[in-house]
Amino acid sequence: MKYTSITVAVLMAVQLSCQEKVQEETKTEAQSKVAQSKEEPTKPEETEVYEPVPPTVTVDTKGVPSDAIVLFDGSNFDEWTSSVDSTAVQWHLNDDGSMTVKDKVGDIQTKRNFGSIQLHLEWKSPAEILRDGQNRANSGVFIQQRYEVQVLDNNDNPTYTNGQVGSVYKQSIPLAMASVPTGEWNTYDIIFHAPEFDGEKLSEPAYVTVLHNGVLIQDHFEIEGTIKFIGWPKYEAHGKAPLKLQDHGDNSRVSYRNIWVREL
Ligand code: MG
Repeated sequence: MKYTSITVAVLMAVQLSCQEKVQEETKTEAQSKVAQSKEEPTKPEETEVYEPVPPTVTVDTKGVPSDAIVLFDGSNFDEWTSSVDSTAVQWHLNDDGSMTVKDKVGDIQTKRNFGSIQLHLEWKSPAEILRDGQNRANSGVFIQQRYEVQVLDNNDNPTYTNGQVGSVYKQSIPLAMASVPTGEWNTYDIIFHAPEFDGEKLSEPAYVTVLHNGVLIQDHFEIEGTIKFIGWPKYEAHGKAPLKLQDHGDNSRVSYRNIWVREL
């Protein structure tokens, strides 16, 4: 075969480029080997890092973190709207800094949309016992309008356990029944990681952790999809969405107070 001078030059260039690539790969491999063969630290300073510095968060006398968005402090419904028709909230605003579900006017939801959050709220069943099972003081915290952490008066009131107080409704039985006596205030502290979607396809499910009166009742549970009363849960692609509180429509008279959220 007869090579022209141009062909030879091109072949040499290709060869050089290949050699460079091999050398580069060898260099990277060598570097990673050096990193791997790093000797075990002998001084405490060798494993100390100083950056990034976490922001300072203080907590006020009501337990509200300084970087929280206060959604309800008892003074007004400014952060809320009717889920039915986006009009003003008609639930009862009480003198003691709480709100109570107004029967059959529908759910309420935040005006803001949220993704992953740390949520705190307090809720109370009415002291008067009215009905049984799922119809006794049923409400619920719907994260992103879809994923319900059940609110129910389950004291001496059994129901299906995947729908009891503290359940992720019809998906996850709580690890414990941690309710205070009927008529007293409960706390929910919820850490929620929003699902992620690649177009219409789920790429990362949602996860929820719940503390009920300080007791861990949901431990990083992988949510199976939008809550269904009838049928299996399914994911539908969505972005940030409001937080919703449920009017179950059977005179539940559930009250809420001290609601704040930290975006994660
Ligand atoms: Mg409910």
